[in-house]
Amino acid sequence: MCLNQLLPQADAIEAIFEDDVRFFDPGSNWSGVTCNLCGEDAESWFFDSMEAASESGFRDLTTTAPCCGGKVDLNRLNYVWQSAFGRFAIEVLNPGVVLLSSEQVETVSRALQSDITEVWAHI
Ligand SMILES: [Zn+2]
Repeated sequence: MCLNQLLPQADAIEAIFEDDVRFFDPGSNWSGVTCNLCGEDAESWFFDSMEAASESGFRDLTTTAPCCGGKVDLNRLNYVWQSAFGRFAIEVLNPGVVLLSSEQVETVSRALQSDITEVWAHI
C-alpha cells in the first residue's frame, strides 16, 4: 500500500517517529474536549491533567475526571476535533480530501496492523 495512491493530490506525506509519546492536536481547529463518561466540558481540567501525565512521559493517561469522578483515559476523551496521543504519525500536508473514506481508513489500518486515529490539523 502506498499512501501516494490513496491521496494523490497531497502536497507531502511524511512518517513521523517520536522518541516519546506526544499529543497530536488539531492546531487552530482545536474546539474543546468533553468527558467521555458524562459529556461535561472537560477543557477546564484537561490541560492540567495532560501536564501531569507528561511528567511520566504519558506512560499513564488515566486520570480522575473532576466533572463526574470517573476514571478516564485522556486518549478516549471526546475531542470536538480529534486529537490523539502517540509516538507515530503519518503527516499529510494538504491531502486534497475532506475526510478519508472508511475504505481508506481500513486500508491504512490494515497496512500498519493497528487502528489509526485521524487528526485533522489546521496549522
Ligand atoms: Zn465526567
